[in-house]
Amino acid sequence: MPAEHAAIVGAGIAGLTAALALARRGISSEIFEQAPELTEVGAGLQISPNATRILAELGVLERLADSWLEPDNIRLISGTSLRRLAAVPAGSFARTRWGAPYCVLHRSTLQRALLEAVADESLCKLHLGAQITGGALSDASRPTDILIGADGVWSKVRESIEGSPSPRFSGNIAYRFTVDAANAPSFLEATSVSAFLGPSAHLVSYPLKETGSFNMVAITAGNATSHDWTTQPTEVQRQQLLSRFFRWHPAMARLLAEAEGMTFWPLYETTNGRWQNGRDCVLIGDAAHAMMPFAAQGAAMAIEDAYELAGFVATRPIAQALQSFEAHRTPRIARLRQRGAFNQFAYHARGPIRIGRDLVLALRPPQSLAADLDWVYGYRAGA
Ligand SMILES: Cc1cc2nc3c(=O)[nH]c(=O)nc-3n(C[C@H](O)[C@H](O)[C@H](O)COP(=O)(O)OP(=O)(O)OC[C@H]3O[C@@H](n4cnc5c(N)ncnc54)[C@H](O)[C@@H]3O)c2cc1C
Repeated sequence: MPAEHAAIVGAGIAGLTAALALARRGISSEIFEQAPELTEVGAGLQISPNATRILAELGVLERLADSWLEPDNIRLISGTSLRRLAAVPAGSFARTRWGAPYCVLHRSTLQRALLEAVADESLCKLHLGAQITGGALSDASRPTDILIGADGVWSKVRESIEGSPSPRFSGNIAYRFTVDAANAPSFLEATSVSAFLGPSAHLVSYPLKETGSFNMVAITAGNATSHDWTTQPTEVQRQQLLSRFFRWHPAMARLLAEAEGMTFWPLYETTNGRWQNGRDCVLIGDAAHAMMPFAAQGAAMAIEDAYELAGFVATRPIAQALQSFEAHRTPRIARLRQRGAFNQFAYHARGPIRIGRDLVLALRPPQSLAADLDWVYGYRAGA
């Protein structure tokens, strides 16, 4: 029998999208979220066409139209000279080539739009302040035939799946801050996503319409001390960051030195492992495969997972659906992880490798760089 009523743990991007995708298939769900209210946590997100296509299909994209920005391009810039190394066109090019927009927005904006869509959907019910500690869900108002763990990198649902992935510290730290758009230096460029590349570190910058500021995230190696998105770096951690950017262009080093309200996120990823128990329990999003942000695809993969899972459980007996879902999604996630690892190698390159990287990028026309991304951005989930 296909699923009729699902319990979803976690009202992040994965859980809310899953509830909507199930509802489109006539499957009701209850979402259990530990937070008493959903506040403005997180930072900016780049949402690529493979994910915006699904958001459009679920009626969520139209709710975001006033909030997002569509960058004209995604630039790779030398952090030491501020010279442009390469650019992948986005904007109308993305819509034409990949059939949906490439946009940037705040994570809380996306979560709010998903929440509103869930609230408007009679088949979805959200329970806030409901922390789930194990596999059994006695809190659901009626029997559930599938349990979906969308509870992020520190998933509790994962504990009820033998051989499931575990979280591990990646060795990288993300330092996040904002720069007021009105006073931003011109090299940040308001119409681009910019990835500034330097030895052993990189920094991604893009404007957010909602806040009138640039979202800035610097990533470099460091030691883990907390799991929270709101922790401020200690003076020692801040000095460690500045030392990594010491040989960068002085204007960029200054931007970091003067940054206010910086937050500090140790980056965790999950190891490989089983996402489902062969019966009635499955993981999606970061709970299944938290990955480094080097390909900016974590949220997009959560959205694809949610959408494709709904297709499987609506059309097959549940145990078979979960196995087919895992077999179908695993190769794509593995390929994306490889792409992320390659980006990390290329972004943080030093010495001769860096020189080689810059030469190769200079020789590649934008169309050819875009073609490399067809398998990511042109993917049609559920097709
Ligand atoms: C620096 C950085 C930049 C990034 N940039 C991008 C980007 O540009 N594009 C992109 O696509 N992705 C990006 N990502 C990745 C993206 O943020 C994540 O992959 C995505 O948010 C994961 O969504 P999720 O719903 O799976 O998990 P989460 O967002 O972690 O949601 C999990 C939810 O479950 C709840 N929960 C947890 N435990 C329980 C429990 N026991 N009971 C009940 N509820 C529970 C939590 O409160 C939370 O609401 C980035 C990540 C980082 C760190």
